[in-house]
Amino acid sequence: MNISSLKLDSSNTVLVTGGAGFIGSNLCESLLSNGNTVICLDNFATGKRENIAGFASNNNFTLIEGDIRDLNTCKKACSNVDYVLHQAALGSVPRSINDPITSNDVNVSGFLNMLVGARDANVKRFVYAASSSTYGDSTNMPKVEEIIGKPLSPYAITKYVNELYADIFSNTYGLETIGLRYFNVFGRKQDPNGAYAAVIPKFVMQLMSHESPTINGDGSFSRDFTYIDNVIQMNIRAIASNNKDAINTVYNVAYGERTDLKQLVELLKKYLSEFDSKIKNVETIYGPQRTGDVPHSLASISKAKKLLGYNPEYNIESGLKEAISWYWKNLK
Ligand code: NAD
Repeated sequence: MNISSLKLDSSNTVLVTGGAGFIGSNLCESLLSNGNTVICLDNFATGKRENIAGFASNNNFTLIEGDIRDLNTCKKACSNVDYVLHQAALGSVPRSINDPITSNDVNVSGFLNMLVGARDANVKRFVYAASSSTYGDSTNMPKVEEIIGKPLSPYAITKYVNELYADIFSNTYGLETIGLRYFNVFGRKQDPNGAYAAVIPKFVMQLMSHESPTINGDGSFSRDFTYIDNVIQMNIRAIASNNKDAINTVYNVAYGERTDLKQLVELLKKYLSEFDSKIKNVETIYGPQRTGDVPHSLASISKAKKLLGYNPEYNIESGLKEAISWYWKNLK
């Protein structure tokens, strides 16, 4: 994504943790294309070398292979950086249900290490990946930042604790923070494989090989699926903003529309059929509902629009078209 119109000074150095992951590697790429110096801290737990291969030899790029569970690694990574975009975490609700200890170590202790590293290095701002899972069992729709419910999974707890810690670091130490509650992000480089793969890349890969995708439940659960370029835009706006009212708070990062899983599969079949007409006839399987999944998720993006000037460029259709052509070209 071309971020030049977002007025981020290219002389700034940005640390992207989790920079070899789906969202992080896309952030690194955009920042490098803007001329910024980028440091990526990643332990490759779920990140991939191929995600950074396209820019690994860029003179403005440095990879630190390390773990955010190690405080010294975080301190070293933060030294001499202007901004932190903290993406490193173990994602996935089911993963956190299977192994809450590791999710907590990485997502909470690792997060705290990064805050301490950023504070001690006097970074200008710490922007971090929060999550829509923080809305938990709240039935309020659309989700507004101020009204949250009870968390429904260990993962959701870790992401909520991040917000609490960030708030304390803003108030106690004066560290500028912004939390971005991502809503089901999708797009190029998102991992389609493994037990914890997200629904869109998983279904795309299955449909490309004429395998039936399995919907958990009856397909009525809905999500505010958000294309990666909208997420990049929000991260850059969060570090570039000079609006003092916009900091030390959290924002929904979404498109602001919801799509249920049945509709999602239909859209995927429609756009994939443009590459292979047999895909429209692939049957869908319905399986049991998963524990910890919230039924519906729809964001209000008013706060992001008002305070950060957010203007999402891609809706689900245009985002899916982009994502599908990337998967077809790179992974078919
Ligand atoms: P991802 O798994 O592709 O990326 C996470 C990256 O963090 C990986 O490169 C991984 O190797 C790295 N990492 C994990 N543990 C680490 C550790 N101990 N030390 C250093 N690096 C470590 O996931 P993603 O989808 O790109 O998610 C990025 C962030 O956004 C995460 O914080 C996630 O919780 C959050 N988020 C994502 C979504 C989504 O829809 N993808 C939604 C809400 C929140």
